[in-house]
Formats: sequence, C-alpha cells, structure tokens
Amino acid sequence: MPAKSCPKCILVINSGSSSLKFTLFSMETETMLAKGLVERIGTPSANLAYQRNGEAKQEFPVAAEDHAEALRIATQYLADPQTGVLLSLEEVDAIGHRVVHGGEQFRTPLRVDETVKNEIMNCAQLAPLHNPANLGGIQACETVFPGTPNVAVFDTAFHQTMSAHAYLYAIPIQYYRKYAIRKYGFHGTSHAFILEATARYLKKETSQLKLITCHLGNGSSIAAIAAGKVVDTSMGMTPLAGLVMGTRSGDIDPAVVLFLMRQGMTADQIDNLLNKKSGLLGVGEIDSGDMRDIVDNTESGKETAARALDMWVHRLTLYIGGYYALLGGADAIVLSGGIGENSVYARARLVAQLGVLGCILDEERNRRGRGPCTITSAESRLPVIIMPTDEELMIARETIRVLRPDA
Ligand code: ADP
Repeated sequence: MPAKSCPKCILVINSGSSSLKFTLFSMETETMLAKGLVERIGTPSANLAYQRNGEAKQEFPVAAEDHAEALRIATQYLADPQTGVLLSLEEVDAIGHRVVHGGEQFRTPLRVDETVKNEIMNCAQLAPLHNPANLGGIQACETVFPGTPNVAVFDTAFHQTMSAHAYLYAIPIQYYRKYAIRKYGFHGTSHAFILEATARYLKKETSQLKLITCHLGNGSSIAAIAAGKVVDTSMGMTPLAGLVMGTRSGDIDPAVVLFLMRQGMTADQIDNLLNKKSGLLGVGEIDSGDMRDIVDNTESGKETAARALDMWVHRLTLYIGGYYALLGGADAIVLSGGIGENSVYARARLVAQLGVLGCILDEERNRRGRGPCTITSAESRLPVIIMPTDEELMIARETIRVLRPDA
C-alpha cells in the first residue's frame, strides 16, 4: 500500500528481546496520545503497562507468546472504547522503529523493504542482542498492521558523518576491512533531536552551530557537532566506550581485558563486569548506579560515592575539553537525559569544572532548571543549556520525513 500523502498518526516501536515499547503520536501537533510497554513476552507473567496522555498508568496481564501477539493485544487498547485514543487501528498511518545498529550501510532512516530487513540482520553481529529484537518488532508490525509502511531509524546513523580519522581505531586497517571494527556511536536519534531543539531554542539554523551535546542517562554519550554533522562521539563499536555510566565502565585500557582473561575470567564474565557491574555502581559501592543515590550518599559523607561522582565529572570534562578543541570552540554545551535534565547537583559540579571555557553557573537558574533553559549567567562566554530529549518523537518525525521527503 502506498504511504498516505500526509501521514499524521505515527506509531513508534522500540522492540527488545522480551519487551515491546510503543508510543502513538498525532503529528499535526506532535502530541503523544498514548504509550505502553509489554514486558516478559513469552512467559506466563507477561504484562502491559499502558498510559493515555495525562492519565495514570494502568497494568494488564497479557497472554503473549511472541512479539506479534504482544503487539496485537497491546495495540487493541489504543482503539478500545474504554481505554483508546483512536476509533480504529486503521488510523495508524505509519510505524517508525528504533533499530540500534545500522553499520556503515545506513546513514539515514529508510522505509523498510526486504533489502533493508536483510541488512539489519547483516548488522546483527555488531549488536547481537538488539538488532534481531528490533527486526522482530518490524516483523510483528508487518503481521498486525499489514500494508502499513514501516520506517527504520538507526541509533548509529546520525554519527555516520564522522571522518575516517575519527572513527578508525589505531589497529591494522585489515581488521576494519575484515570485521568492520570501528567507532559507530549510539544515541544518534537523541543527539539529532537535541541539535534540532537547541537550534530552535537559540533561533539559529543547525548549519550555523557548533554544539557539544551530552546525553546523560544510565547509558551516556557525548557528541561534537559542527554545522549539523557529528565530528566525534564517545561511544564506540559498542555502547560500552566513553563516559562513566550507571553500570558501564566507559573507556578502559584494553589490556585490562587481556589481564582479566589471563586471570581466568571468560569473555562473558568480563562482558558482564564491564557492562553491568561497573560505572557508578561499581565504583560507588552503595549498591546503586542511580545518580540520585550517588548524590544523596555523597552529601551524607560516603567517600566511595563521592569518588564515583568525581570520576563521572572528570571523564565528562576530558571529553568536553577535547571536543571544544576539535570543534575550534562551541556555541553551547547542551545537557540532556535523566541526569542532564534533572540532577541539579551533578550539573553544578560539571559547570564548576568548566570555568576555564568561560562557563559561569547561575545557581538559581540551575536550581529551577527545567529545560529548555540556560543555566549559566548572562556573563558566561559559553552557555550551558538543558534540553529535554525525546527519541520517540524524533523517530516519528523521521518516519514522516522518509514517507514525505518534501515535508
Ligand atoms: P536511560 O539511559 O535508562 O534512559 P535516563 O535518561 O532515564 O536513563 O536517566 C537515568 C538517570 O537519571 C539515573 O542516574 C537517575 O538517577 C537520573 N535521574 C532521573 N531523575 C532524576 C532527578 N530527579 N534527580 C537526579 N537524577 C535523576
């Protein structure tokens, strides 16, 4: 079925190995109508958490053996007279999908066809947990919404503008040629959203701006962006590299991995250590990688938590300083994600460290700060901005752009 000339109602899908998250947007006003999350698909305790805009979350048990069944049951709530926001599911004009890894093939979002699906599977060796699950979401939609166009939006695509000297690792090039080992970067949809939103906030074109965008959540990454193009970003071939995160180590001497293997640890054990047991969780020693707990414990004098926070600020500062030099200056540093949007304490610590770049914190603005807003003072040479991110809305926008290239 051809795409409607003016798609308005967009369903966004983020499919995991045993979960399926959906968000429905009306794109005339860019309003989220309803959203839901099915978890534990394929188990007897599968469950849907469903919420209409502005209303409380409701929970329902669902008998869902697979993703198609989960999607079919969950989306019925969207058109139900009691819980729904649509008269019929036929009102869904198109579906946008988050796909984690687009390798080097995908530099832009694309309408899904057989070739795109095959390529998503070809990229699966780079994201073995994510890409097959993302493809599962696409296939579920093909079953439940036959004929409705699907668009794949890749986490890696926005970073594909990096030059070879930024994305290559300094190992023999044959390993890049043979295995595609290189930096890809992730959270691209979020960095792209933050760029567009910051340009609007500053009343500039993206082509006029040099920005350092920081997506600071449980997973965190930073990007240096000039004239709308990513110059460098902190995540690598996988989302493990870069900043100190909730449970991920970020950058580490690769020889540590070899050392641990020689001590008898397996690849899976080290994978688990670096992805799930490290970062704020591993260093803070308070049994939590949540920034709120790290800050609370720091304020009540727990030294290990304070050290974890110091490491978080230290690593972020290293990246911001490096990116400032790479860009030859910046128009703003932009903070986003759960920590960037909410943690008054972590923001204050970071901005205090950036005085040499001309950042002067306005404490009142920081305390009040709900984005979009500037938290540095009027005298500050380099503004620091809070910009809430919305990856789902960005996927919905990209879906419309792909189906209506003139939009
Ligand atoms: P994810 O990567 O899982 O999407 P989020 O963007 O939701 O993560 O960010 C989670 C982080 O944001 C946690 O470290 C959490 O402590 C922090 N955070 C969320 N809300 C607040 C708040 N009100 N104050 C301080 N930190 C917060």
